[in-house]
Amino acid sequence: MSAPAAASPRAAWRLLELPATGHRFVHTSGPDLDSTDPATGETVARVRTSTAADVDAAVAAGRAAMRSRWRDDGALRGRVLYRYAQALRERVDELAELLTREQGKRIAEARAEVNGAANHVEYYAGQARAVHGRALPLGPGVHGVTLREPVGVVAVITPWNWPLTLLTRSLAPALAAGNAVVVKPASLTPAVTIAALAPLAADPELPEGVLSCVVGSGDVVGTALVTHPGVDMIAFTGETTTGVNVMKLAADGLKKVALELGGKSPNLVFADAPMDKALAGATAAAFSSSGQICTAGSRLLVERSIADEFLERLAERVTALRVGDGLDPATDIAPVASRSQQRAIFDYIDLGRTEGEIIAGGTPLTDEKYAAGCYVPPTVVTGLSPQSRLIQEEIFGPVLAVQVFDDEDEAVALANCTDYGLAAGLWTSNLQRAWRVARELQAGTVWINTYNRFYSELEVGGVKRSGVGRQQGQVGLEEFTEVKSLNFDNNPTLW
Ligand code: NDP
Repeated sequence: MSAPAAASPRAAWRLLELPATGHRFVHTSGPDLDSTDPATGETVARVRTSTAADVDAAVAAGRAAMRSRWRDDGALRGRVLYRYAQALRERVDELAELLTREQGKRIAEARAEVNGAANHVEYYAGQARAVHGRALPLGPGVHGVTLREPVGVVAVITPWNWPLTLLTRSLAPALAAGNAVVVKPASLTPAVTIAALAPLAADPELPEGVLSCVVGSGDVVGTALVTHPGVDMIAFTGETTTGVNVMKLAADGLKKVALELGGKSPNLVFADAPMDKALAGATAAAFSSSGQICTAGSRLLVERSIADEFLERLAERVTALRVGDGLDPATDIAPVASRSQQRAIFDYIDLGRTEGEIIAGGTPLTDEKYAAGCYVPPTVVTGLSPQSRLIQEEIFGPVLAVQVFDDEDEAVALANCTDYGLAAGLWTSNLQRAWRVARELQAGTVWINTYNRFYSELEVGGVKRSGVGRQQGQVGLEEFTEVKSLNFDNNPTLW
């Protein structure tokens, strides 16, 4: 059983009521939605939701803004984004506390998330002045010029697990490219999203309507936004089944979609890997953010000749992780985001007990201090068949499924045996093997002797059922543009 973290030094919390005065960018006239703290069940914020009329108003504001100088003035966009990045950095403490209270994650991760969100904005602040095309000589007196133009009004729909980095990862390039954006946050994390957007909305140089936010359920508000005729593009991050639905809803309007979806990422440890580093890496890959990361290394594949020693040491490490309140700096495993999430994860653990063997965790935490929170012990399951639901399905919690392989071919076959293709990791000291295996893995990102390291300048995204398109980097900016080709004929006669 995991050792409990020390009792959390929690200060009292004053209920946030949002949107507040000055939040004119948030269009809400519907009923209230309470967001609760997964560590205590307390209400953190009361947020007014949006109606179809609010979605209309937000989209209309965006369309009007596309006629402002925002569309053509990269220097203006760069200044606004740069100031926004600074504003996020100045608010790290305040936003991180709200993030932990609303979403549950460890306070150190929450701080890293706010800084990561600022990194994306800073990177694209620089890119805003570099949105340009090409000039092509096409023949005597004939020239082609390509322009990268904004797509128009972009709906940015975010999940609850990393609500700020996944917000700015789409918002910042969309704005840098000259689009207007309507954000719809996940219903579990509306307050921290509004709080994080507020300094951008308050920028004196941001034209009215470039940024709007609507709040409410995916079924109602999300669908209204995705199907709205005034929305040109949808940048969606969330589950694969929801992404498929969003793509279908967007199909009638032939809207552009960028989909960042679920994963079941394999992490391969070869016998020649640096073992201590691989152990630390495999543990962090599976259990950071309590496993609620789309790229979590939730499948561990270990070469048979080192499997006994590796798994024994892994089980020791995992059992020593401290489960507790995300606000307590001593916590390793914070609560998962909701009761329904907690129940679904325990169902998978129960199935794992039937189909395989649990070598760490697996038992509900019975201590009184866990009663009010959505706690799940970090759990490792071995002996599963490749067809098991624990191997095939995204659990999105602190559960690691282990498989053993005999050679490189089997490792690759097992790694590629799911419908997902978001990310993968591999640990080896053989450079040739690293290159060979990385090329065989069906994944948008492959980490080699590291895991879950993200840089704003390096693209991410999925293959197979993990997504469409790429975020971050230069390609992540281009996703939010359309190419227009101009064709000049300077010859005196036609043809
Ligand atoms: P969901 O798919 O449940 O929700 C994502 C967002 O979509 C929420 O804002 C949700 O609103 C909204 N939504 C739901 N239905 C619709 C609809 N019909 N039209 C428009 N919007 C809709 O995902 P989760 O929030 O549960 O996030 C976890 C998932 O996200 C995991 O599968 C994870 O792997 C994936 N993810 C992928 C990432 C990637 O980069 N590939 C990164 C992070 C997470 P509401 O909250 O109101 O339901």
